[in-house]
Amino acid sequence: MIQSADDIVRGTVVHANICVLGGGPAGIVLALELAKTGKSILLLESGGESPSEQAQALNAGEVVDEKLHSPPDRYRQRVLGGATSIWGGRCVPFDPIDFEARPWIDHSGWPISYDEVERHYAAANAWCEAGEYEYDARLATPGGMRALLRGFSPLHFDANGIERFSCPTNFGDRYRARLHSAPNVRVLLSATATSLRAARDGSRIDTLDVRNGRDCTFSVAAEQFVLAMGGMETPRLLLTSDDVHAGGIGNVNDLVGRFYMCHIAGTIGSLRVNGTADSVWHGYDVAADGTYCRRRLALLPETQAAMGLSNAVFRLHHPRIADPRHGTGPLSAIFLAQRFISYEYAKRLVSDVPPTYKTWLRHGMNAVIDSPSTGRFLLRWLKTRTLADRKFPSIIIRPRTNLFSLDFHAEQVPNPDSRIDLGSGLDRFGNRRLRVDWRYTRQDVETVATSFDLLSQELATQSIGHLSLASDERDIETVVRRDGAYGGHHIGTTRMGASARSGVVDRHGKVFGVNNLYVVGSATFPTSSQANPTLTIVAMAVRLAERLGALATRVPSIQESVS
Ligand SMILES: Cc1cc2nc3c(=O)[nH]c(=O)nc-3n(C[C@H](O)[C@H](O)[C@H](O)COP(=O)(O)OP(=O)(O)OC[C@H]3O[C@@H](n4cnc5c(N)ncnc54)[C@H](O)[C@@H]3O)c2cc1C
Repeated sequence: MIQSADDIVRGTVVHANICVLGGGPAGIVLALELAKTGKSILLLESGGESPSEQAQALNAGEVVDEKLHSPPDRYRQRVLGGATSIWGGRCVPFDPIDFEARPWIDHSGWPISYDEVERHYAAANAWCEAGEYEYDARLATPGGMRALLRGFSPLHFDANGIERFSCPTNFGDRYRARLHSAPNVRVLLSATATSLRAARDGSRIDTLDVRNGRDCTFSVAAEQFVLAMGGMETPRLLLTSDDVHAGGIGNVNDLVGRFYMCHIAGTIGSLRVNGTADSVWHGYDVAADGTYCRRRLALLPETQAAMGLSNAVFRLHHPRIADPRHGTGPLSAIFLAQRFISYEYAKRLVSDVPPTYKTWLRHGMNAVIDSPSTGRFLLRWLKTRTLADRKFPSIIIRPRTNLFSLDFHAEQVPNPDSRIDLGSGLDRFGNRRLRVDWRYTRQDVETVATSFDLLSQELATQSIGHLSLASDERDIETVVRRDGAYGGHHIGTTRMGASARSGVVDRHGKVFGVNNLYVVGSATFPTSSQANPTLTIVAMAVRLAERLGALATRVPSIQESVS
């Protein structure tokens, strides 16, 4: 059943076995997996079925350096489905090395093994609609996928790993009917959790305060509470709930909100590939079930260990769109249409240096001179993206000159000084807004610089091509700062640890010291991997459902009382 919380009267107490806070992919998958157990599940979502300004305003907050990190009401979405209402759908599992304590990366190591997560990836793939759990290019499509760079056999990179793409599935749209029809699931929309009320000794959560769209407060009493509100709101609610736990719940060791990671991601360099155009394939292959798959170059774990690097991948990319010297009509058409592209995607497509009128003119000329390919591109986009159920994942344009750039997506190392905290402003419910102080380290820059050099050497030695940096890219830190934190991934702010000294939650996601409070989502990841987080978030939700499903229950069904 899906209802609006606006109809709930002040003072009502809603009872359930398990209360899940947040209706993004983590919360939706958890609720639907738990539905199989017969327990009563209450899913609270602050937004509605479609986006609204009123809900989105609750995401606003402060950022210490807006050049490095987007405002917190960008990228995140207060709506059923959460950020999957606008995500890209790239699905990649974490690697075994991500879970290891690596002596060269401080604070690395998960209290659980890769195998404990890996066994849930097949289910996660299904939830994300990313096809079967097969991430080897030789096996993912009938006959195997085409080579990225023909004849290239790198020593430091795995060229056979792939990423698979979700539709991209909006979890709110796709699973609404199932949420609605599950007899033991009740979804309350427009229900914003504002404070967790701990028992006097702090050992459990008794109730949760919730505000609806009419600003009425009601509460929830449940045996277990699970925070699935994303990597920013989860620490915020814990820090806000400080009436019994001074400094916030789970924060005895001042860890809540710290170790905030995104990904070090951006576009770098120019790769001129030797040989004919057909020696390169940087586009998508299609698996038997229709899933788009794409190869990438992943830094090998042995190289990471030998050189003290974090995890990283490179993808072949079209030349930088903002620079009209690429001479490619479709790219210039995208540049000219930037006003119509949403902030989250335009941010990566265009330059942060305001274009001069000459730049606009050159892009205009590219679009006109290369109009046949611009027209073909627009028609293909309409057919395979705009009108398709399973959408072509991104802009793939074969450069006329065999000239590419590189997309990099690298792990950010855990850093306690990078953090989410409470700011000074208040939201409309009187809760302190977020304050984001995202920081990268020298080690993050080194990973990009060294892996770029390694790739450049290997491409040259094997006569595959020439990889170079533009004059404004020679200082790699400038490149890292140019793109800043990847805005859609919020990781590590309630990290999982072996004990309360190293983590906010234990190996099951339970907050240390609070017996009935759990967290699910990338907030619990102690390290960030090279991989985008959602597939692993979903795998962890399936894992938590298994755990919570096995716990004994007392309350038989969802009830409501008015105090
Ligand atoms: C532009 C963009 C592209 C992306 N592309 C990819 C990609 O290609 N691959 C990938 O793996 N990931 C991608 N991501 C990231 C992906 O969307 C997130 O990892 C994922 O949505 C996180 O899921 P979640 O359920 O943990 O959190 P969210 O999706 O953020 O959902 C949290 C939910 O909690 C609700 N909520 C918040 N506070 C409260 C409260 N106090 N009370 C009640 N409800 C509350 C919110 O309204 C929201 O619906 C992208 C993100 C963006 C923005």
